[in-house]
This record gives sequence, structure tokens and C-alpha cells, in this order.
Amino acid sequence: MERYIETALKATKHSTPGQSEFYQAVKEVLISLEPLLKAEPKYAHYNIVERIVIPDRQIIFRVPWIDDAGKIRSNIGYRIQFSNSIGPYKGGLRFHPSVNLSIIKFLGFEQIFKNSLTGLAIGGGKGGSDFDPKGKSEGEIMRFCQSFMIELSKYIGETIDVPAGDIGVGGREIGFMFGTYKRLTNHYEGILTGKGLNWGGSLVRTEATGFGSVYFAENILNKRGETINGKICTVSGSGNVAIYTIQKLHELGAIPVTCSDSKGMIYDQNGIDLSLLKTIKEVNRQALTEYIKVHPNAKYIPIEAYPAGTNAVWSIPCFAAFPSATQNELGLEDIKILHKNDCQLVNEGANMPCTLEAIDFIVAHGIAFGPAKAANAGGVATSQLEMSQNASMQKWTFGEVDAKLQNIMKHIFDLSYDTSKEFQQEGNLLLGANIAGFRKVADSMIEQGVV
Ligand code: NDP
Repeated sequence: MERYIETALKATKHSTPGQSEFYQAVKEVLISLEPLLKAEPKYAHYNIVERIVIPDRQIIFRVPWIDDAGKIRSNIGYRIQFSNSIGPYKGGLRFHPSVNLSIIKFLGFEQIFKNSLTGLAIGGGKGGSDFDPKGKSEGEIMRFCQSFMIELSKYIGETIDVPAGDIGVGGREIGFMFGTYKRLTNHYEGILTGKGLNWGGSLVRTEATGFGSVYFAENILNKRGETINGKICTVSGSGNVAIYTIQKLHELGAIPVTCSDSKGMIYDQNGIDLSLLKTIKEVNRQALTEYIKVHPNAKYIPIEAYPAGTNAVWSIPCFAAFPSATQNELGLEDIKILHKNDCQLVNEGANMPCTLEAIDFIVAHGIAFGPAKAANAGGVATSQLEMSQNASMQKWTFGEVDAKLQNIMKHIFDLSYDTSKEFQQEGNLLLGANIAGFRKVADSMIEQGVV
């Protein structure tokens, strides 16, 4: 490894003790930048790597709220404004008990390069809270969101920072936060994306990350003279990304046979029943055990029964795997099983779902790979389309937005592919995406002086 990269990694480890997810994300990016940094000494000259791993600012705040029993509760809120070199900060909010500074920083760091890859003018940021929405009443969720926005509103704005949803934050939570912002400021502005269709939202935003992930996979396969039509696919998760990945796979004639949540997984060899899945997860917010009540021939495996150190979703033979739940959900043992079962493609719908060891295995064995920064960028890209519609007071049709999304995913694929070729690693989309995403941000930093 280049000494410059090694030094930067050591410095990051030293300055961010215990932030293992953040360090993992930084390591993945920096290692793949090696050929660029060798070819272009200006990035070392301007100390870009040392600068880009430090957020512009980290905002950490208390979120006090009152539960249904009248008791005062408190959680930690975060907003990491990582880089606004190419546009206002943009990135989701995650509400999940596992949230901590390391997780929000890893997500914010990835977001810089993902947003750059879209070709749109959006910088990188991320936020959230360790608040657990599970088991909370509608009133508790609303009071939490209101309190969260009372603090967050001081730092966001349509040309400053525009948050969106992520794990645990969907249309309902965005609505509660938007309503609070409006009351606090008396401004009707596009300060959040993922809004309801009646009040500034964009068609396709709900579907965008899942649809975009499958469009990206189709680009990879088309380059190899293949298509997803007729292929068995496995998907993890059963949230926003997973549901619309499953929908698009069905629409393109593939057979998605799995989905999962934090308690277990479903294997339905006839193909996941999409409308049932939507009812269970989007309408009733229930666990996946409900699925087998309607389809007793499907198999449910609870998480306690997963073989140690593995995720049972990846034990199901498939042509393509779409990890779409959370970080580090596909490890070395999982990819070995997928490879043994002749899996041809791993396409990351979630952020950083594959461990570094799994990625090394994927690259070493020539398995096609859609890296998260590229493959799941459809969500944030469509968020930017929502911002454009808000700013110009227009409303585009479903078909118009979907066509733009497909073009953006093709652009991201072509850019990543061409960049991998430029650095003599044709088809290594991880390297191509990281270099292409980094280069635009780094050049902007140089042009903007000491920032
Ligand atoms: P949702 O909250 O809608 O769904 C998350 C899903 O993953 C749920 O099925 C949840 O299960 C499961 N899950 C969450 N944490 C764990 C865990 N620790 N172990 C096992 N399962 C888990 O989130 P999204 O679908 O929006 O996000 C999924 C991933 O995609 C995340 O990595 C996110 O950062 C990424 N992403 C999302 C985008 C978006 O537009 N929404 C854009 C780009 C990336 P349960 O229901 O039991 O909690």
C-alpha cells in the first residue's frame, strides 16, 4: 500500500478511536484510490486525503421527549455535515438503537462519493438518532420527531443541508419533521426529501433506491451479455430498499425468493408475494412471521437458527444477491457459500452490507459486484430530483422521473466502468466508483482553496 495512504489510515485510526464502521468505510475508499494517487501527485500535494476524512462539522445533541406514560425520555441526535464541496449537504436520517457516531460518520463519508457519482450538485451528510421506533405509539414517534427537528432546524436549509429518510425514517417521520420545521420557521421550503406527494414530494422517490439498484444490476449484466430475466435472486431486508428491489425484480421477470427482517428470514421458492409483504411491513408494521400464515409452504428461519457467523439469506442458491438491510450483513463465510452455489452477482442495495473480507473474496473470484455507492445511489439522486421540482415549482410524472432515474443509473455505471478501464482494472466497479466519486470532490476542493 502507498505510504501516503497508510499514513492517512493510521492518523484516522488514532483520531477516531473505537469508530470501527467509520474506519472500515475510509479504508475501503482509500485503498482503491491507490492508482489515482500514484498517477496524480497533486492530491497528496494538496493533502486532500487527510482533509476529506474529517467532516466539515459534527453536530450532536440531546433529544428529550415525553412517552405515553408521561415520563421524560432522552436520546442522542446526530447530524454530520461531511462535505459541501460540490453542493449542499445531502443524506438521510437513521433512527435505530444501534446508531452511534461511528455509524453516522461512515454513512456520511460514503455519501460524499455516492452523491458525486450521480453527477448532481449535492454534497455529503448523514444524521439520525439511537431512538428505536419499534413498539412506539404514533404519538411517541411524533413527539420524538418534533423534538429532533427543534434542534436540527438550526442547521439545515434548502441551500445548506437537506436530510431525507433511511432506516427507521420513512414518509411518516419526514411528515412529522417537516410540519415541525414549518411551525418553527414559517417557511414552506424543500428542507427535507421523501415528502408526501400532496406537499412537495416526488413520484418515484419511495421506489427509487430499490428500482435504481436493479437498474444498476441490469447495466452490469447487460455489459456481460446477460439479463436478470428468469433468474433466481435473493434479497435481504424487508424495508424500503428491499421491497422496491423485489418489486422491480418481479417486473423484469426475475424470481426474488427471499426477504428478511431483524428477527428472521422468509424463503419462498415461488417468488416473494409482494403485495403481502407490503401489507405486512408498510401497512401493518408487523414481523415476517405473518408471511407464513398466508403462505404455509414458504419457509421461515428465525435469526437464532442461522448457522453461527452467517446470514441464512445467503445460504439460498441464487444467480444474484441483493443485500438490502444493513451494514456488514454479508461476510466472508456468506460469500463463500454464495460462490459455491454459483452466484454471479452481488449488488449492494444497503450501505456497506459486505465486509471488507467479503469484498476481497468477490474481487479475487471475479464475481460481478455493484458497490453500494453506485448501486444504491438512485435514492439520493431522486431526492435531488425532488429538490429540483420544489425549487422550480414543477411536478413531473412517474414516467418522467423513472426515465431520469434510469439515465442516472446508467450514467453512474458508465462512469464507474470507464474509470475502472482508465486505471487498467476493467470491470472493477468498486475501484471505478471510488475513484470517479473522489476525483470530482477532490478537484473541487483544490479549486476552492484551503477548505
Ligand atoms: P428500512 O428501515 O425501511 O428497512 C430496513 C430493513 O433492514 C428492515 O427489514 C429491518 O428489519 C432490517 N434491518 C435493519 N437493521 C437490521 C439489523 N441490524 N439486522 C437485521 N436486519 C436489520 O430501511 P431502508 O430500506 O431505507 O434501508 C436499508 C439499507 O439501505 C440501509 O443500509 C440504508 O442506509 C440503505 N439505503 C437506503 C436508502 C433509502 O432511500 N431508503 C438510500 C440508500 C441506501 P426490521 O423491520 O425488523 O427492523
